[in-house]
Amino acid sequence: MATLLKGKEVAESLKQKLKEEVEMLCQKGITPSLSIVIVGDRADSAAYIKGAVKRCSEIGIECNVRELPKDLVQDKFVDVIRQLNDDEKVNGIMIMRPLPGQISENVVKYEIFPAKDVDCMSPVNISKVMSGEEGGFAPCTPSAVMEILHHYGIDPKGKRTTIIGRSMVVGRPLAMMLLKENATITVCHTKTLNLAEESRRAEILIAAAGKAKMVKRNMVKEGAVVIDVGINFDENGRMCGDVDFDEVSQVAGMITPVPGGVGAVTSTILAKHVIDACKIQNGL
Ligand code: NAD
Repeated sequence: MATLLKGKEVAESLKQKLKEEVEMLCQKGITPSLSIVIVGDRADSAAYIKGAVKRCSEIGIECNVRELPKDLVQDKFVDVIRQLNDDEKVNGIMIMRPLPGQISENVVKYEIFPAKDVDCMSPVNISKVMSGEEGGFAPCTPSAVMEILHHYGIDPKGKRTTIIGRSMVVGRPLAMMLLKENATITVCHTKTLNLAEESRRAEILIAAAGKAKMVKRNMVKEGAVVIDVGINFDENGRMCGDVDFDEVSQVAGMITPVPGGVGAVTSTILAKHVIDACKIQNGL
């Protein structure tokens, strides 16, 4: 049976450090603040927001949620983002995606100030992740994967690392972040021929496809580190990952569970980015 890589343990350890940083800021009369903007209502976004609000309050970050009507026109939405950009009390802005059809992400991403863009929507931050430049904000989910690897002392240097999924939210930026740490990367997607052959070569396998339990035992190398980013629901309505945990945990060396894996770390990374943004904006 594989060793469990527990997201909760990683999040708790990071949370303690962040609480200390917030205390230091509070002593200087500064309270970090996050604004989450959502247009309309989606069950998955609501669950994410609930987790983020809870985590921020545990750490001492002020968190405001701007719930906007689902038929809001793009110009009005841009006005809201500009107000938040200009509001000195707001250190971080997170826009929940996907946005409804009448609002184009390709317009909005140029509006959000890179210095407040704590989940990497702005092309400035995306470009920093892609080029390996320090100082921007990487997207929270790939950062959570990296945090888990670091916490458990798993060094990607020189390792054959396969990522299933090439979205801009997870797979693609994660590939660049792992490359920066000298992993040898393969990125798989829906057009990959013989996925099992590719994934079986990996010493580190990361599943971010959004397909319930698609990674089976025969797709995993004996002793591999398996990180499951997927959040899906099985035929019984229970949350599960992209990895068939019961099968794969028999061959993997280490594995993240779902729930309790990557998802448990993501909101703490968001909190870290808000604190970092706050410090930079206050010249600290
Ligand atoms: P997406 O749908 O945007 O992208 C999925 C990617 O997987 C695509 O690049 C696609 O080519 C690839 N893919 C899909 N089916 C495949 C298959 N059968 N074989 C090979 N490749 C395949 O999804 P996303 O936004 O990147 O999210 C991926 C998963 O991660 C989802 O389950 C999502 O819920 C989850 N997620 C988790 C967190 C977290 O905090 N844990 C955050 C964001 C997303």
